[in-house]
Amino acid sequence: MTKQIQTKSTIVDIEKLEMLNVGMVGHIDHGKTTLLSKITGKFTDTHSEELKRGITIKLGYADIILENKDKKRYVSFIDCPGHEMLMATMLSGAALIDAAILLVAANEGIKPQTKEHLIALQAKKVNKILIVQNKIDLVTREKAIENFNEIKKFIKGTIAENAPIIPVSAQQEINIDKIKEFLLDVKIPQRDLNSKPEFLIARSFDINRPGTDIKNLHGGVLGGILKKGELKVGDEIEIKPGIAETQAHQLSYHTIKTKIVSIFRGNNPINKATPGGSLAIETELDNILTKSDSLSGCAASLIGSLPEITTALKLKYYLFSSLVGGEKEVKIEELKLSEMIMLSVNTTTTVGQIKKIDKKNIDLSLRIPVVPIKGDSVGIARNIRGHWRLIGFGEIV
Ligand code: GDP
Ligand code: MG
Repeated sequence: MTKQIQTKSTIVDIEKLEMLNVGMVGHIDHGKTTLLSKITGKFTDTHSEELKRGITIKLGYADIILENKDKKRYVSFIDCPGHEMLMATMLSGAALIDAAILLVAANEGIKPQTKEHLIALQAKKVNKILIVQNKIDLVTREKAIENFNEIKKFIKGTIAENAPIIPVSAQQEINIDKIKEFLLDVKIPQRDLNSKPEFLIARSFDINRPGTDIKNLHGGVLGGILKKGELKVGDEIEIKPGIAETQAHQLSYHTIKTKIVSIFRGNNPINKATPGGSLAIETELDNILTKSDSLSGCAASLIGSLPEITTALKLKYYLFSSLVGGEKEVKIEELKLSEMIMLSVNTTTTVGQIKKIDKKNIDLSLRIPVVPIKGDSVGIARNIRGHWRLIGFGEIV
């Protein structure tokens, strides 16, 4: 078989696989990144060409194809970004994950972010949860049992009540196979293939090495997740809000139009992307536009498909009754006129001032514009004693 044919069969294979998006959540230092590297294995770079290597390294996404005797699926993971504090808001703002692995370090137990992340999963109705009791190598048997009971108590009455709890040592690679079994068994939700595509850009970059000959240059690459619809190689797309430009002290945004040159799922080129799993899209864009994540937070779709961007956002909202994460219960006050709140809308985080409150609806004036796609959900955070804390969520109306 020639190399060419092998590549083709890979394309077909990858496109046919079912996709699962998994969020890694839990308190900082409880082992999310370590566990992820043990589940997926390290990226081995022996034969890949520049494009693939560039995408894999720069995206930092970890993907794996899992299979057993009856099933084969492509699993994409979303790890907590550096800013752990924002994860809860991010989770509530993006309908991106199908399932979650919630880590609790056995030597530390339930911590503020453990609670906050579980509440966010609950708000998003992510009910496919695996609880990993990590770092069991660090505790005695008695301590492990005590911690297990603490977890049981913590999940009682929540969306994770019946979630399996697996004792793990990510570092010593104990029970990683049990996690893989869970990931193969989880039911995958129905995907929306018929709506206009909505590609959420989380990263954007230049994959060319310095000094590359002009005729070998690759266009700018967009990394992110296709929330709904389909995108194909050759599609003409628009990116919004696009490029920010200051003119006479006024900030304005320009929609970018381009064409899809290639699509990668992890290391694999595909012709057509369907929702689920992270993607890298190579475009015809000049790398000046895509370098250093300058387009992160934007959305892409077929030309003419995205609504006009706006700084005047209308939301229907729901607040939690009390603040999660803290040691003692703190009641959440109603939203107030003129209050500044932080919003996570898909991959964008922006601050907005409340201009009008009408029952459970608010009008906001945003600092950074968003693409207001009706029905998209939004995480709402309030600054409480110097920390942005998740207080509820909303829906774009
Ligand atoms: P994250 O902040 O949740 O992503 O946590 P990291 O994966 O960065 O892990 C934090 C620290 O805990 C690192 O020093 C890891 O080496 C360590 N760690 C992670 N898993 C285990 C484990 O199972 N056992 C032990 N002893 N250490 C671990
Ligand atoms: Mg980490």
